[in-house]
Amino acid sequence: MAKKGDTCTFCGRDSSDVNLLINGISGAICDDCVMQAYEIVKEQTEIKRAPFGLKKTDLPKPKDIKAFLDQYVIGQEDAKRFLSVSVYNHYKRLLQRVTSDDVEIEKSNIIMVGATGTGKTLLARTIAKLLHVPFAIVDATVLTEAGYVGEDIESILTRLLQASDYNVEAAQRGIVFIDEIDKIARKSDNPSITRDVSGEGVQQGLLKLLEGSIVNVPPQGGRKHPDQKMIAVDTKNILFICGGAFDGIEKKIAQRLNTQVVGYSANKDTKMIDRNNLLKYITPTDLKSFGLIPEIIGRLPILTYLNPLDRSTLRSILTEPKNSIVKQYVKLFEMDGITLSFDEDVYEYIVDKAMEFKLGARGLRSIVEAIMMDAMYAMPSGKGKILHVTLDYAKDEFEKSDVSRLQTA
Ligand code: ADP
Repeated sequence: MAKKGDTCTFCGRDSSDVNLLINGISGAICDDCVMQAYEIVKEQTEIKRAPFGLKKTDLPKPKDIKAFLDQYVIGQEDAKRFLSVSVYNHYKRLLQRVTSDDVEIEKSNIIMVGATGTGKTLLARTIAKLLHVPFAIVDATVLTEAGYVGEDIESILTRLLQASDYNVEAAQRGIVFIDEIDKIARKSDNPSITRDVSGEGVQQGLLKLLEGSIVNVPPQGGRKHPDQKMIAVDTKNILFICGGAFDGIEKKIAQRLNTQVVGYSANKDTKMIDRNNLLKYITPTDLKSFGLIPEIIGRLPILTYLNPLDRSTLRSILTEPKNSIVKQYVKLFEMDGITLSFDEDVYEYIVDKAMEFKLGARGLRSIVEAIMMDAMYAMPSGKGKILHVTLDYAKDEFEKSDVSRLQTA
C-alpha cells in the first residue's frame, strides 16, 4: 500500500489527496486514474470491434448463419437462405466505412409470408441470438395513426430501447420483428370513404422508420405526451423483419399465375405449378393486391415465404431442434434428479393430436404439457427418479386434460 509522500505517477497527486493509491514496481496509480484508464481501454476496444459486438473477422458468412438457424429451425430452407444472405449483407453494410466516392450499400429489410406458427418469429429471434444484438417483437395490430386509440408507431422503437436497457447505440444496431404486418393492409381499395387509421395510416407512419431516419421515441412507450422527454433514435442501421400470414393471398397468387399462363405455353406452365403451396410463387405484386402500399413494399425488398408444417416436420420439431420441446422437458426433470424418457410411439401420438386439432407447432407444447402435468406436480416431492412415458400413460394423461376438450369445443 501507499505510504505518506507517495504520488500517483499519472496525475502527480499525493496519496493524501486521493482515495486510494496502488503501488507498482516502479510507480503508483490513484483510483481516479484507474477509472480513466478503464474508460479509455473500453472505448478503444469498442472502436476496434464491429458494430454489433462481434469482431469484423467473426462476421458469420451466410452458410454459417444458415447452419446456426438449422440448429433451431426445422425445414424452411428458402426462408433460411434468404435471411442468411440479407442479414450478412446488412451487417457488411454496417462495417462499410463509406467514403464520398464509395458505392453505398442500401438497407434491405425483410418480409416473410407464411401461416401462423410456421417459425417466422423463431427465425428472427434466432438471428438476433446469433448476432448478440438487441431484439424486439412488436405486433402491428396495436398500432394506430397518432391521435387515435392504440399505440403510436414510435413505440416500436421503445421496445427496442427496452431490450437494450436504454442503450441507444446498441438499439440502433438491433433487429425489430414486426408481426402481423398483414393486419395493417389497406381496408378497401377506395381510401376516401373513411379514414383508415389502423391500416394505411400506420403503413404511412412506418415508412420513415423503415427507410432510416431520426425518430423521437417516448421512453415508456404508449402515447406521446408533451412533457415527456424523448429519446432520439436513428433507424438507419436497424434491421426490420416483418412477418404476416396474409390469409387468402394464395387466391391472389393463383389469379396472377392463371392470367400469366394463358396462351401458347399455358398447359406446360400450369402443370409445373405446385398448387398445394402457392406461397412459394409470391411476388411484391401480390402484396400490393393484398393491400400493402407500394412505398412499404419498396422498403421491404427481401420477400420470402414459409412452408406449411406437414406431419414429418412437426415430428422433427418435437425432438430435433437444439432446444426442442422434448429436450426442454428432459432438462426440467433432470433438475430434480429425474430421468425422463419417451417411447417412440408417444411422439407419433403427440403429432397426431397436433394435426387433428390443427394447432401446428404451437400445439405440440400444449399437448406435451398436458401429458406431463401430473408428473411435474407430484414427482419433485416423491421418491421416484425415473419416468418413462409409454403410449398408454400419454393417452390417459392427455384425455383427462383440458387440452383434449378443445376437440369438442
Ligand atoms: P410464427 O411467428 O410464424 O407465427 P413462431 O415462430 O412463433 O410462429 O412459432 C411458434 C412455435 O412453433 C415456436 O416457438 C417453435 O417452438 C415452433 N416452431 C414453428 N415452426 C418451427 C420450425 N420450422 N422449426 C422449429 N420449431 C418451430
